[in-house]
Amino acid sequence: MNAFQYHAPGTLDEALSLLDRHGEDATLIAGGTALVLFMKQRLVQPEHLVSLQRVPELGGISLSNGGVRLGAMATHRAVETSPVVASTVPLLAETYGHVATARIRNVATVGGGLVHADPNLDPPPGLIALGARVTLVSSSGERTVPVEELFVDYYETSLMPGEVVTRVDLPRPEPKTGGAFIKFLPRTADDYATVLASATMTLSEDGTVCREVRIGLGSVSVTPVRATGAEEVLRGQAPSSELIRRAAEAVEAQIEPLDDFRGSAGYKTRMAVVFTRRVLERALAGARGAG
Ligand SMILES: Cc1cc2nc3c(=O)[nH]c(=O)nc-3n(C[C@H](O)[C@H](O)[C@H](O)COP(=O)(O)OP(=O)(O)OC[C@H]3O[C@@H](n4cnc5c(N)ncnc54)[C@H](O)[C@@H]3O)c2cc1C
Repeated sequence: MNAFQYHAPGTLDEALSLLDRHGEDATLIAGGTALVLFMKQRLVQPEHLVSLQRVPELGGISLSNGGVRLGAMATHRAVETSPVVASTVPLLAETYGHVATARIRNVATVGGGLVHADPNLDPPPGLIALGARVTLVSSSGERTVPVEELFVDYYETSLMPGEVVTRVDLPRPEPKTGGAFIKFLPRTADDYATVLASATMTLSEDGTVCREVRIGLGSVSVTPVRATGAEEVLRGQAPSSELIRRAAEAVEAQIEPLDDFRGSAGYKTRMAVVFTRRVLERALAGARGAG
């Protein structure tokens, strides 16, 4: 690891001015579970490390506009165990509960789990399915983007220099909405997924039409993927088993898995179709059972 200067700003403004002052020589650190490994491997060699641990504006989990607001420094474990999350968006608690082990979840943060931008991370597909929006702040202003727009390539995001993820907002699911998350994990319990799929579906009031559907996939491309092609097959239609099967087949056109020790690209492609079908079936069953 190279020598670096450690900064622990006490406000967001201080953190932003450190980023402005040191430019490309500065890197943010949140939980450090990914960044420290990269530093040890010399994949990242910052001269200035700017910790977000003491920035109070970035913590907390709260109700906001009827939905849930996650501060960027909320840990995965805090999301998993939050009563606010459990009573408002329970699929979110399930999503974060799938990450690695409790030791990792106690330290890794919501912001770090997005900006690390590893396509195998658990939270992004769940956040895509739940319609999450991410707020980014820099010294020149604030912008909010749908979570899927954050990911541009392998370990690469659309963050501009000097930007910090400050929060993630999730709407409260509408009535007649169901959701599901599946992490296909054939090796050890703390491994990254071979394939991840998550979906939410909202039915019309009389329960006959799929009014809205969102599908997020992980470990199937260089970024997390929103499976818009599959969504289009279902949106506005009566959601039968046959239609769900057709929708799941449509994900093949939008994914490009990498061959690795977790499976060949061909195998992952087939598994993505299978797990998309399963999350859609579960989301539909949940929507039918929901008030
Ligand atoms: C052994 C092991 C197994 C794991 N298994 C899984 C798994 O199965 N599934 C899973 O989802 N995750 C898993 N993780 C966690 C995951 O890989 C990342 O380590 C974690 O999500 C990073 O969170 P962090 O808060 O520690 O981020 P850090 O390591 O602190 O930072 C990661 C990146 O995000 C940037 N960053 C952090 N916060 C912000 C912010 N607010 N604004 C802008 N940029 C920011 C940093 O500059 C850095 O580039 C595992 C980790 C380990 C070590």
